[in-house]
Amino acid sequence: MAEVEIWDEDLCKACGACCDGSLFVQAKLADGEGILPDMEESFARNQRGFALPCPYFCETCTVYDIRPKICRTFGCELLAAVKDGAVPYTQALQAVGRLRTARAALATHLPDAANSVPTAEQRFAAGYRNYPDLAAFQADNAQTIAAIKEMQDATRPFTHGKNSATTM
Ligand code: SF4
Ligand code: SF4
Repeated sequence: MAEVEIWDEDLCKACGACCDGSLFVQAKLADGEGILPDMEESFARNQRGFALPCPYFCETCTVYDIRPKICRTFGCELLAAVKDGAVPYTQALQAVGRLRTARAALATHLPDAANSVPTAEQRFAAGYRNYPDLAAFQADNAQTIAAIKEMQDATRPFTHGKNSATTM
């Protein structure tokens, strides 16, 4: 994981996907670290953290000076690639735009995705249990499945395809 000062990066100011629930269900906390008043404590994969989307995200971090440690150190794969010179900044901005478009499209099919995308995807997938077989599920939900696929493709530059329903 790249060590960066998040929000000091222009790309992050244009993005916010690691705060707004596009990529992760929670951000991990350091041992003994407290949470800010409006945050919800959560546990994912035996890791304590606070739930995402972060209540302090409003186009930007509104608690910048007192943000948790993870927020001071986390950098996604895309940001690392930009810093390394492997991905041009303009291409990274396009990836941010694609992600936002994909999320908005997904939210038209899965309203929960307007909040937490990984959670919405999990709930949608769980609905498969109500169907007699996969073909019937796919036939009834073709547009939603296509929107999820586009969202997953759009997140790939940020996570390198790692399971996003986890911890930042
Ligand atoms: S997802 Fe990456 S580019 Fe976007 S705000 Fe987080 S670290 Fe920055
Ligand atoms: S505290 Fe700030 S940087 Fe950390 S998740 Fe919330 S909005 Fe993002």
